Amino acid sequence: MDTARKNLSELTYEELEKELAPLGLPAYRLRQLEKWLSSGASFDEMTDLPLKLREELALKYSDGTLKIINKLVSAIDGTAKYLIDLGDGNIIECVLMKYKYGYSACVSTQAGCRMGCTFCASAGAGFGRNLTPGEIAGQIKTMNRDAGVNIGHVVMMGVGEPLDNYDNVVAFMRMAHDPGGLNISYRKMSLSTCGLIPGIEKLMKEDMPVTLSVSLHSPFQEERARMMPVAKKYSLDKLLEICKTFSLETGRRITYEYAMISGVNDTDAHAAELIKLLGGTLCHINLIPVNTVKGTGYRRADRVRIDRFRMTLENGGLAATVRRAMGRDIEAACGQLRRKAMEENSGKA
Ligand code: SAH
Repeated sequence: MDTARKNLSELTYEELEKELAPLGLPAYRLRQLEKWLSSGASFDEMTDLPLKLREELALKYSDGTLKIINKLVSAIDGTAKYLIDLGDGNIIECVLMKYKYGYSACVSTQAGCRMGCTFCASAGAGFGRNLTPGEIAGQIKTMNRDAGVNIGHVVMMGVGEPLDNYDNVVAFMRMAHDPGGLNISYRKMSLSTCGLIPGIEKLMKEDMPVTLSVSLHSPFQEERARMMPVAKKYSLDKLLEICKTFSLETGRRITYEYAMISGVNDTDAHAAELIKLLGGTLCHINLIPVNTVKGTGYRRADRVRIDRFRMTLENGGLAATVRRAMGRDIEAACGQLRRKAMEENSGKA
């Protein structure tokens, strides 16, 4: 997307009205335009608007459409992974998943990530820049349009750390919630963070009842800090404290993400410590069989081990589920496709 020009697709109806006031458009034209923009259409596709108006708009503004450079569809479950070119050399990815309750999108919030988690494909694949609110929403619109669906759930679990791009992510959530736009309720949005405490504190005050997912991966401070450098700055005990406050203040339960890595964090001692730390709090633990990423040396814990771990947690009073792997055959684990594309690009250079 051309980030130098103002992106009309990220404006509310009132903002659009104000921005385009010099054109003196009647209200029905603005409504038509708003509808097209929220559906992810390009100026070219807005066929019920006069050609002259479309040309005029295209000269000065961006329509916010994103360019799909690759799309992989899983033969197993229909999950579709999109590789998207932002038009300035940055590449991101997003995923469309179909569940019983409808369509869900996994979106990226940054082109790259600065957090450096040792198990993650996005670490080491370079940091480009923060995404704008329109670019985050644009991923949903692009997938809605391409697949002819209506996405009703969003998880911010693609490339990037949402709380490291706080203002744009909050603006995106407001936009996605807008009834004139994507009309997705806050309860159907999940924001996943590696644990940036100041961001969690701010989010708590936004009056946006989104689900907070926290990437935990270990109940031991030192081990966690080895896996997730961010934990050196924001310690586990402080993180859990703020999470407890978050769930008490919002009445929402926290989801803890826990990637099961063979021989690293899948022992009985880990399960026992999780029970000790989280018992009695409003939470849910999502066990994710780790996706093997080249160069990390981590291996996925075996299924028997994962099931036993889950049962130990349940017996200890914690709600725990094992995440169903989606799109296993298309490298749908966030960051993998982007990393491959970046490696191929740098190989060419
Ligand atoms: N930065 C945010 C959101 C993006 S990552 C965060 O850290 O939460 C989304 C989720 O995928 C996080 O829980 C992250 O820890 C997890 N993840 C990253 N790499 C993974 C891998 N190789 N296997 C399984 N989960 C992974």
